Amino acid sequence: MEKRRTVPVRLDVDSDDDVLLRETVDEFLWTANYVTRHAFEGEYVTTSKTTLHDDTYEDVRDEGRLHSNHVQAARNKAADACKSVVERRKQAKKASIPHFTSPHLVYDHRTATFHNDYVSIATVAGRIEADYVLPDKERDTPHSAYFFSDEYETTGAELHYRNGNWMLHIHCKRNVETDTSEQATTENGTVLGVDLGVNNLAVTSTGTFWTGEEFDHWRREYEKRRGDLQQCGTRWAHENIESIGRKEEGRFKITLHRISNELVNEARETECSVIAFEDLTDIRERTGASWGHKWAFNRLYEYVEYKAAEYGIEVEQVDPENTSRRCSTCGFTHPDNRQSESFECLKCGYENHADYNAAKNIGLRYLRRNQTGDDGGAPVGVRLNSGTLNVNGEHEPPASLEA
Ligand SMILES: [Zn+2]
Repeated sequence: MEKRRTVPVRLDVDSDDDVLLRETVDEFLWTANYVTRHAFEGEYVTTSKTTLHDDTYEDVRDEGRLHSNHVQAARNKAADACKSVVERRKQAKKASIPHFTSPHLVYDHRTATFHNDYVSIATVAGRIEADYVLPDKERDTPHSAYFFSDEYETTGAELHYRNGNWMLHIHCKRNVETDTSEQATTENGTVLGVDLGVNNLAVTSTGTFWTGEEFDHWRREYEKRRGDLQQCGTRWAHENIESIGRKEEGRFKITLHRISNELVNEARETECSVIAFEDLTDIRERTGASWGHKWAFNRLYEYVEYKAAEYGIEVEQVDPENTSRRCSTCGFTHPDNRQSESFECLKCGYENHADYNAAKNIGLRYLRRNQTGDDGGAPVGVRLNSGTLNVNGEHEPPASLEA
């Protein structure tokens, strides 16, 4: 089985290269739109990549300066978009001719070379090199661990321009062992720590983030519409509020089922025998979460609990005290260690995303609570995205790196 990750990395691009990248993106979008328009010219929409290639490749190459693999990537992008239009129309849904405007560019191994500290990427005027701007030097950040891990290989990337920055979304993959007999004989498992919150609904000690954006969007929409209807004040309006409530609740639940499935899969793929959450009782007071969030946290916990049980994975709650203020590396606890989403230990200088630091602490707390002296199958480590954290908070690299 393959496990895929996308790692967003900001690039340090000087003004000359910035101009080149803009020109390259413009030609890429122009090409994708040219191929798309061509696909819609005939009686039927052309979706075959080979046909589109034969029909448009020479024109595009004559017209622009794109690397031949960028021409192919733009044509593939166009073909995929055309295919989805055809699919939608088959289902009698509305679908207009696609038009690409958002600034992005698709890279593969012939147009990009990924080095440790920088990337070399093709433009309309040859290659440029750009340094990565990483959030910190820690190798176990969600950002860098996949990318720097020997277990992952890079498969390509997408370049995006957003808020004045060039961002490279690097795709990585790794083959995950699925030999169940091997998993069954794992004597001492590891624990997956999970932090719940408002900005990020859930973050694991392996560095996977589920943002709260989707949830917030629906909640705001719901409250807005409920507000509008309440102003009408009729019986009809009241019934509508209830039906919107049921509909929204159904949507939230679908999202929460998806997240819980992904969370349980994460535990299985990383061979965790326990998933640890913080105690949910006073979570509103601690995190400033709304009643809606509290409802979502409880549902998510329930779903994870019964889904994990199918695979023999235990789900537990631990004492949440100070998990967000404590440094997961040295144990120093202080309210000023945390500034909203960023954590920086005032004692040892450890820096990381605050929710990720908390997820590690939740895993560690479970580990310490269950240190009984005999190793009767109790987990021995907190699962990180590369290696584990032992009961003393020390990082242990994955077995494959020790060899
Ligand atoms: Zn520290």
